[in-house]
Amino acid sequence: MERRLGLVANEPFIAYAIINGEQVRAEKRFARENPANPAEIVGYAPVNTREEAVRAIEAAAEAFPKWANTAIDERVQRMQRAIDKLKEAAPEIKRLLSREHGKALYDSEGELAVSFMWMEFACRMVKEVLQEKVKQHERGKTIITYDPVGVVSAISPWNYPIALSTIKIAPALLAGNTMVLKPSPYAPLAVSMVTKMIADEFPPGVLNLVHGEAEVGVELTTHPKVAKIAFTGGTKTAKHIMKAAAETIKKMTLELGGNDAAIVLPSFDVYDARAMRRLVISNFLTTGQICMIAKRVYVHRSIFDSFVEKYIEAANQWIRVGSPFNPDVTVGPVNNKAQLEYVQGLIADAESRGAKVIKLGRILDPDLFAKGYFLQPTLVLGADYHDPIVVEEQFGPTVPILPFDDEEQVIALHNESIYGLTSSVWGDEEEAIRVARRIEAGTTMINTAAVQGLDVRFPFGGVKQSGVGREYGVEGIMSYVETHVIHVPTELDLPYIPE
Ligand code: NAD
Repeated sequence: MERRLGLVANEPFIAYAIINGEQVRAEKRFARENPANPAEIVGYAPVNTREEAVRAIEAAAEAFPKWANTAIDERVQRMQRAIDKLKEAAPEIKRLLSREHGKALYDSEGELAVSFMWMEFACRMVKEVLQEKVKQHERGKTIITYDPVGVVSAISPWNYPIALSTIKIAPALLAGNTMVLKPSPYAPLAVSMVTKMIADEFPPGVLNLVHGEAEVGVELTTHPKVAKIAFTGGTKTAKHIMKAAAETIKKMTLELGGNDAAIVLPSFDVYDARAMRRLVISNFLTTGQICMIAKRVYVHRSIFDSFVEKYIEAANQWIRVGSPFNPDVTVGPVNNKAQLEYVQGLIADAESRGAKVIKLGRILDPDLFAKGYFLQPTLVLGADYHDPIVVEEQFGPTVPILPFDDEEQVIALHNESIYGLTSSVWGDEEEAIRVARRIEAGTTMINTAAVQGLDVRFPFGGVKQSGVGREYGVEGIMSYVETHVIHVPTELDLPYIPE
């Protein structure tokens, strides 16, 4: 059946670059396979060259002065029109996202819902947040304005391609910046559809899109006309980017990896089935491929055995592995082969060190399972506190559960990580808040974790090697402006400076 967006169900989707308002057909393109069935090609995206990246940056630089001077009301109206169109197209977007990514349909719908919530929050808040301040005081007058930064290079990862691109597009454009976006080759299609629909509502050059790997990324992070980099991805990649951007001292927001812990206090009720289900979801939503998933669980020794028993019960109930398009499925395939092999390697390593690996959940379609990048979710018991499965970010469907003896020990175990993105504490609220206050992380949730506790009205980001700066919330808008102070002192000639 022909679809309104030109997308034919189950036919390959063709993504293009967008440079200065034009769709650009690149010389080379790459295929994106369906991770649930890699023999099926979901679509194609261009392999853009460095020259095309430069053209996109130059288009953004040319569009910037005019766009920066557009009234905020007009910017908001354009963005709101784009959101309305995206909402109408949501059923098609989420199907394409599930096909190329592997996440279950409900999960794609959740990603779109978070994207819309954030874009609308930014539309509602931007005028108030960027309102200039005029202060009359005893030494004259001071005007503080919030000026756009300039051309922003936005680089996004594969795990939440739409949410982690719109998290950058909305505040950047609303604040008067222009942008070149580069999504990940592991999920380039649905985000291209979304970016095209947004770009169409703005003047040419305001929002550009290029595809490709590190080569294009390097251009976006070194070009002198790029003023800011908004990057979400791995900590290793961010180290290259920081070095690349040093030459021209670019502004940066970096949202990076995490090894988020869930700390389960003795006061946690292991018989609370809803809470246990939330914990399981905190570990396995999006097949464990979320920066803010709980990737290690520390449980107080006094409740450890009963916790594990009840956790397995809850996991076996919630985890149903299979096709993203089967409405009974909660966990899809891993997004790509390299990630699958990395997670398998971590599990094999844990086993070789003597840990016990317990399979969780049910496989709904064994034939499909054998074809795709599927991995049955597992729980790892008996790992050492410093084994790779515990200290590395696994980013996949496996989780180590470890005992602890007292608060001091678990806080130390938590904080010795090089990461500090999110975390969660489970149990009596007051005790949990007491522990949370001592945790080094950007966010700590109480009795929930990961996307379940996300609130786009509040800032999100990491400490230590989990990142620099914040997205979401008022800070997520402010990170796209420079504070500009205009002083009009009444005392023009200072008495202590000699004539
Ligand atoms: P990645 O670092 O491999 O890739 C991210 C993006 O950077 C991709 O678009 C990639 O093509 C691009 N890139 C690669 N090399 C580059 C270079 N030299 N210069 C510029 N760009 C370059 O990350 P990934 O595998 O796509 O995503 C998974 C990682 O992202 C995990 O570590 C996860 O924790 C992290 N993540 C963090 C957050 C957060 O908000 N903190 C959210 C989601 C994912």
